[in-house]
Amino acid sequence: MLPRLSDKYIAGFLDSDGCVSLQWNPTCTRPQLTLSWSQKTSLDRVLCLIQDAIGGSLAEVSVEGNSYSRLTVCGSTARSVLDRIRKHLVIKRHYAEACLAMANRPVSDRHDAKRQLKWERRRPSLPLPNFPSRKWLAGYLDGDGCFAVSRLTPLGSACPVLHCAAARYDTEGIEIIQKAFGGRMYDMCHGRVKQYVLQLNPSKAVEMLSMFAHHMIVKRDQAMFILGCARMGHYRDGERIRAILKQLKAHPQRLNETALDVGLLVRQVQDKLRPWNKKGLMACTHCGRNDRRHVGFGLCEICYRDETLRRRHATML
Ligand SMILES: [Zn+2]
Repeated sequence: MLPRLSDKYIAGFLDSDGCVSLQWNPTCTRPQLTLSWSQKTSLDRVLCLIQDAIGGSLAEVSVEGNSYSRLTVCGSTARSVLDRIRKHLVIKRHYAEACLAMANRPVSDRHDAKRQLKWERRRPSLPLPNFPSRKWLAGYLDGDGCFAVSRLTPLGSACPVLHCAAARYDTEGIEIIQKAFGGRMYDMCHGRVKQYVLQLNPSKAVEMLSMFAHHMIVKRDQAMFILGCARMGHYRDGERIRAILKQLKAHPQRLNETALDVGLLVRQVQDKLRPWNKKGLMACTHCGRNDRRHVGFGLCEICYRDETLRRRHATML
């Protein structure tokens, strides 16, 4: 049995895949506060755990042939949950406070209220925290983060990256992540979306993922797998790393299923030796040693010198 989800994780997951809104019942002048989260049903484990922690009702809907699960929390429950977690919100804190202020109050002009809310939605939540908390990071990246091995180096090493996209008025999350861990920001969709990209070289992956991977739910196995490989100090068994990560993404773990042994997957990855030269040779082609420097043509210093002398001698004859 997993421990109950923390407020910080729930705030992080609300900042990414969740929604704060006001419901306008036609017969009632007081709008009702609603919190909701949607996930593909194959990934609904996290919604069950959130429901376990805060209540609400879980329903399945079908969108274009795909099954989605939706957790909805309304009214006074939503209010008490949001009151509790709003201090941990990074992106939707300002909007959450605007909704809390308007919920359950009589509204005279509904159109005006909606217009004001739309405007509040685009205002940034300031000040930003200096550093993201571990559990918020786990929740946020469980929603909007994406681990990928898009390319291999010429010698076959994997280059894992973390991507995270955010709408242009929701960039607080990726901004504090960039401030804490580096990485780059790109414009997408004509500037409407910002894409954050962080190269997870081994030391960066250990520094970052060891902070929060164990708090993740949706992408925990992927993060723990990359972390396990990173602890070897290299990703030289690139093809296998890419294949296992792909497999982990394609088969998410459901609630009540036995947990995958990520350690077993990490042990399938070979701790390949560092190549002796940039072309992937493991040793000098002449003497077979790899403790001397590679100089050229696959030869070590000594063999290269002998070879040059031999050629010079040959031309002199
Ligand atoms: Zn040699």
